Amino acid sequence: MTAWNPENVRQDFVLLQNTDRVYFDNAATSQKPKCVIDAVQEFYEKYNANVLRGLYPLSVEATERYENARKTVQRFIHAACPEEIIFTRNATESMNLVAYSYGMANLKAGDEILVSILEHHSNILPWQMVSRATGAKLVFLECEPDGTIPKEKMDEAFSEHTKLVAVTQVSNVLGCVNDIPELVKRARACGAVILMDAAQSAPHMPIDVQKLDVDFVAFSGHKMLAPMGIGVLYGKQELLEKMPPFLTGGEMIETVSRYDAVYAELPHKFEAGTVNAGGAVGLAAAIDYLESYGMDTLHAVEQELTAYLFRGMNAIPHVHVLGSQREDNHTGIVSFTVDQVHPHDISEVLSSDGMDIRAGHHCAQPLHDHLGIHSTARASLMFYNTKEEIDRFLESVSNIRRRMGFGNE
Ligand code: PMP
Repeated sequence: MTAWNPENVRQDFVLLQNTDRVYFDNAATSQKPKCVIDAVQEFYEKYNANVLRGLYPLSVEATERYENARKTVQRFIHAACPEEIIFTRNATESMNLVAYSYGMANLKAGDEILVSILEHHSNILPWQMVSRATGAKLVFLECEPDGTIPKEKMDEAFSEHTKLVAVTQVSNVLGCVNDIPELVKRARACGAVILMDAAQSAPHMPIDVQKLDVDFVAFSGHKMLAPMGIGVLYGKQELLEKMPPFLTGGEMIETVSRYDAVYAELPHKFEAGTVNAGGAVGLAAAIDYLESYGMDTLHAVEQELTAYLFRGMNAIPHVHVLGSQREDNHTGIVSFTVDQVHPHDISEVLSSDGMDIRAGHHCAQPLHDHLGIHSTARASLMFYNTKEEIDRFLESVSNIRRRMGFGNE
């Protein structure tokens, strides 16, 4: 394992070298280290051919690299076998795959789909669609203002009709970590399957899908140092085996006749058309990079940075941090409001000071409605950020109201 050295780490990110801006929009997408960019370039320079098709050496080599990337993802999340790893475009596509394939085939009127109010739109809209198409009822699992889902709310929401639970591990607005083991226990008790959105957790903490005993897990490569356009769906083999394909066409078949087809085995049954092999190779390089430090080390580094930001923000008058008041329950995400200042103006003022953050509803409008706010500003960190950047950020935040013509008293 490589020793942790923040100075060296920043050297690995070319974009961070050539700017004096502070990049605090990591929950939207992370920056990419040079080794990831190099791995993608090497794939296209040395191994580019369509995978799983040609019998000539170049295609065989490309296929080998693509399938090795799958094994790297398997190892990263501790899946039982590579067949349980499906490459998709992103977390959104992964969750749609579960909805269209598992949801449409297994849910019916009288069943209930349980979705937490903390979800990103990409784990709500597919279930709205399944609910409309099948007659299954969409039920929401409510949270407290700090983001926790109390056991009483679980008691209210779960029922003998619950057949699918769709829940995020980490909220992209509040940064809080959901009690997945408790939710799995309750899903099992009513015979439901559970889909965990790991878009905001896979980049920041170790995940063991077997220990968690979740049925499906979705995440995106681009939030964890990999290129855009490559994502992952993990599914338990026995479930994936029984599910119909999501998309159909080339690459996902054994044989095709005029009116019928025999589908390929897992995982290719779910990977129709030419795949993003370069993206998968980039994702494997990103995982190797993360693992060279260790997810525990990176988690600890990010927790310390987040606590520093959280404490600094809480000390600024008129600034309100959303979610947990525990500094260790934010997973790099500090969403906030400033009295009388619209989040878009917050973002404008910070941008003029060289700070890149996000303002809006962060694709979580139902959560914002539930919390009674229209929009928020969000700063989100990654291990390559520094305390010096946070100091600059805090200085800038403390001047927002004055810059907008309000006092700070
Ligand atoms: N879930 C969560 C919790 C997210 O934060 C995001 C990205 N903001 C997504 C899902 C969707 O990710 P993508 O756009 O990469 O599909």
